[in-house]
Amino acid sequence: MRVVVLRIGHRPERDKRITTHVGLVARAFGAEEMLLGGRDSHVEESLVDVAERWGGSFRLKSDVSWKGETVRWKEAGGKVVHLTMYGSNLPDVIDEISNCDCDLLVAVGGEKVPSEMYDLSDWNVAVGNQPHSEVAALAVFLDRLFLGRELVGQFEGGLKIVPQARGKQVLYPEYSPRNEDEEQ
Ligand code: SAM
Repeated sequence: MRVVVLRIGHRPERDKRITTHVGLVARAFGAEEMLLGGRDSHVEESLVDVAERWGGSFRLKSDVSWKGETVRWKEAGGKVVHLTMYGSNLPDVIDEISNCDCDLLVAVGGEKVPSEMYDLSDWNVAVGNQPHSEVAALAVFLDRLFLGRELVGQFEGGLKIVPQARGKQVLYPEYSPRNEDEEQ
């Protein structure tokens, strides 16, 4: 199953940090790409920098039309999940989504999402029917979809953290371990 995240409604003057975090969560929780309606050099540079340092093949495609991408995705046989607090609650639909045997486009919004998105989506899904955040909604949705397997996956190339109860240990690409206080 390919999973791509579509970030709708990015406002460059307000959303740099939260859209960057949507991208970081998409990458860390198993999506292969984020599509961004609009351009934002801050978001682009931050995500490219993380992908270069921490490995893997996560991509960002900017300046997309949310509707064009959604329609094309469906025409190619994929299904669309739109995360919204107004949707069907996640526990009620996650099995159906997981069993769809299809590629998934997972859309998250900002302040307002065009009403057409609700109609174009195969599933409007609430991660609990209370307002919270696109970052939290995406993380919980992907974790339920991948059943936690994404938490133990490895990214090819780049830095690797050696998990430990205290302190920090990072393996560099040449695989020489050293303690690193600055790496975040
Ligand atoms: N009115 C919005 C809604 O439809 O969920 C809340 C706006 S919130 C600032 C921005 C985004 O966070 C939403 O577009 C949605 O993708 C996500 N979001 C917030 N709460 C959510 C929830 N309980 N379940 C799923 N997604 C949520």
